[in-house]
Amino acid sequence: MKLIFIGAPGSGKGTQAKMVSETFNILHLSTGDILRSEINSKTDLGKKVEHYTNSGNLVPDKVMVELIGKIISEKKCRNGFVLDGYPRTIGQAKSLHSLFIKLNFKLDKVIFFYIDEEILIERLSGRYVNPKTGATYNLKYNPSIKEGICDVDSTKLIRRVDDEPNKVKDRLNIYKIESDSLRKYYMEDKDKLLEIDANNSIKSINEKIIKNLSYDD
Ligand code: AMP
Repeated sequence: MKLIFIGAPGSGKGTQAKMVSETFNILHLSTGDILRSEINSKTDLGKKVEHYTNSGNLVPDKVMVELIGKIISEKKCRNGFVLDGYPRTIGQAKSLHSLFIKLNFKLDKVIFFYIDEEILIERLSGRYVNPKTGATYNLKYNPSIKEGICDVDSTKLIRRVDDEPNKVKDRLNIYKIESDSLRKYYMEDKDKLLEIDANNSIKSINEKIIKNLSYDD
C-alpha cells in the first residue's frame, strides 16, 4: 500500500502516519524526520538543508526530489509506505507521479488533514520531542510522565527550533499556500482522495482512516 499524508505542521498527520504504517506493516517515511536525522549526523545533506529547516522554510525541490527519488527506489519500499510530509509542492507532486510510473507503483490514497489554526498553534507551542527517536509529547494533550523527560528511554525532551512561536506562523502560511494547490492537483483523481477532520481525537481519526483503507483494499 502506498499512501501520501498531507497536513499542516501539528495537524497530527505524523502520529497517524506512524499508526497506519504499523497497522499495515509498511514504512513510515517522514521527510521532516529524515532531514532532522541528516542534520543531527552533520552529513553533507544535513549541512545543506539545516538553514532552511531551522528557519521553517521549505528545502528546495531539487534537493527533496533527489532525496525521495533515492529512498523510494530502494527495494524496501516496494511493499509500501506512508509518505508523511511529501510532496509539499506541485513540483514535488509532479515528479513523484513520474517516479511512480517509472517504478510501476500504484498510489492508493492521498489523505488530507484539516484543522483549525488556533488548535494548531496551541499544539505546536506545547510540542516537545525526543531528539533521538522523534517521539512527540504535548504539554497539554499528551504530557510525559516526568516533565521534560521521555517516558520510553528517559532522553531529555527538546522543543524543535522551528516550533518556536515566531517560526510557527511562517510555517503555517507556507503550508496554506502550498496545500491549496496540492489539493487542486489531487482533486483531479477524487477516488484517491480522503479528507479528514483532524480536530477530532487521535483514536477516531485513526479508525476512520483504517476503515477507509481496509474498505478500498
Ligand atoms: P516537518 O517535520 O514535516 O514539519 O518538516 C520540518 C521541515 O523539514 C520543514 O519545515 C522543511 O524545512 C523541511 N521539509 C520536510 N519535508 C519537506 C518537503 N517535502 N519539502 C521541502 N521541505 C521539507
